[in-house]
Order: sequence, then structure tokens, then C-alpha cells
Amino acid sequence: MTSQPIIYEKPEPGIARIWLNRPEAANAQDTQFLYELSAALDRGAREDDVRVIIVAAKGKHFSAGHDVRERDHHATQDRYTPIGNSNQHHRAGAEGRMSREEELYTGLSERWRNLPKPTIAAVQGKCVSGGLLLCWPCDLIIASDDAQFQEVTVAMGIAGVEWFAHPWEMGARKAKEMLMTGAPIGAEEARQIGMVNKVVPREQLEEATLDMARTIARQPTFATKMAKMAVNAAQDAAGRHAAMQVAFALHHLGHSHWMEVSGLPVHAEGMHSSVKKSYAPGDEPFRAPRPKLAGE
Ligand code: ZN
Repeated sequence: MTSQPIIYEKPEPGIARIWLNRPEAANAQDTQFLYELSAALDRGAREDDVRVIIVAAKGKHFSAGHDVRERDHHATQDRYTPIGNSNQHHRAGAEGRMSREEELYTGLSERWRNLPKPTIAAVQGKCVSGGLLLCWPCDLIIASDDAQFQEVTVAMGIAGVEWFAHPWEMGARKAKEMLMTGAPIGAEEARQIGMVNKVVPREQLEEATLDMARTIARQPTFATKMAKMAVNAAQDAAGRHAAMQVAFALHHLGHSHWMEVSGLPVHAEGMHSSVKKSYAPGDEPFRAPRPKLAGE
């Protein structure tokens, strides 16, 4: 557990900036991190003087994704008020795993995507799988020239990270390449395919993001809200949300398949070596405890 994994500040009038502050873990996301990030985004949305919200990251990397080393996730989740109404994460099997991911992954990312104020992600270094769930829900993305966006879930036997925005972020053909090859997409290519708005040198990322925020903060707040809603509605009218629900079901079919054949919810051979050695069958991080049987 980190003492202050998320920092909320107002660098200038009209602008809130939220820092991902687990640089020692490459901003990997554990339960506390996700709930505190969500609380910070809610705070920015509710504070009337905030006109635009920045999500930025301390350290070399934007985010390494879900923190699969977390072990006390059920107890930690119980300390927070759920943002959704799927609170069966203690239950055994697919029911518990799906409930936890509905709350922490698809639930949070969808909530952030629909915040009533403009959001800008500032991305440097690596942004891997679960990391995409932090920047893709933002309205704009500014990347430094060293940024890399990568999906490693197919190597782990899963058909993509939980909030499946890939076809909407880059088009179907590039989405398939990103998923099937697992190769990173560099900042400039990400800009060319429309996933990123702007690429700047690493040392200019903070100022370039503030500059974009200043421009947006000068616009009428109701107009930026309506513009956001109109573009989001276009994606939803084209079936984004329904397609995401199918992808999420397939994601859990994948987890259940690997659980059945290997005792882990992913294909362990495809895991990065740094995390593979940290757990073994019977010690998987996303497993709900066995329910008590009659008489226990
Ligand atoms: Zn999952």
C-alpha cells in the first residue's frame, strides 16, 4: 500500500491536475490507487472552479497496468464505497472475478470517460494494458516522444484489457495488430492513427499539457461539456458500449478458461518475467476466496 498514490492540485485557476504517484511501481494500479484516482477525478468534476482536468504521471512511466502483485485486494476494496452496484467480489469463481473487474476496470473507466468536464492525459514512457484504461477514457492525450502504448494481454491468453476501447481508439485493423502482435506503438505512430492528439519532447510534456488545458479552460464550460457529450454519443450510437460488453464477456471467458486448465486466470507463460515469478497456482491475485460450505 502506498501512502499517497494520487496527488490532486490546482496549478492554475480553472485547472485541476491529478498525479499518478507510484513511480517506484511504474504507476501500477492497485485497488487503493484506482479508488483514490476516481475520488480525485470526482473532486475535479464537482469543484465549480475547475474547468479542465489533467491526468499526469510521476516518474519514468505513465502506467505499467494492473498491479498483479497485490494480495489484500478484497480487504482493501471493502474499505471503499463502491462506485457501481456490483459488489460480489468476495464470491468464488467467475462470479467474484467478474464483479471485481466490473467495478474496478470497466466501471471506473466508463465513469471517467463520461465525466462532465474535459480531461487531458499526459503520457510518458510505457503505458501498458491496464495503463490504457487510465488515458483512453480522457478526452485528449498528449504524449512525450518517448511514450509507448502496448497491449500484452493476448500473450497472457486474454483477448484484450477489460475496457475494450481499442477499435475506437485506432480503427479495427490497427487494433488487431496491437492485440495480436503485442508490439508497442510509439508516440508518433499513435498520433498518426488518431490515438494521440499531440507529441512533444519529454521535457515539454508538462508545459504543453498545461497550455492545452489553458486553451480549453477559456471556453464556455457548458459548450465544452456539450461537445464532449456529442462526440461520445456518436461513438455510442455506433455501438461502442454494446461491443465493449461483448468484449468484456470474452475477457472473462478467457480468465475462466485459463483457470480451468492451469489454475491461474491467465496463461502464465505469457506473463512478464518480473511478475511471473511472484505467484504460482493457488496464489493467484484475482481469485475470490472459496465460499464457506454448510457446517464450516
Ligand atoms: Zn481481467
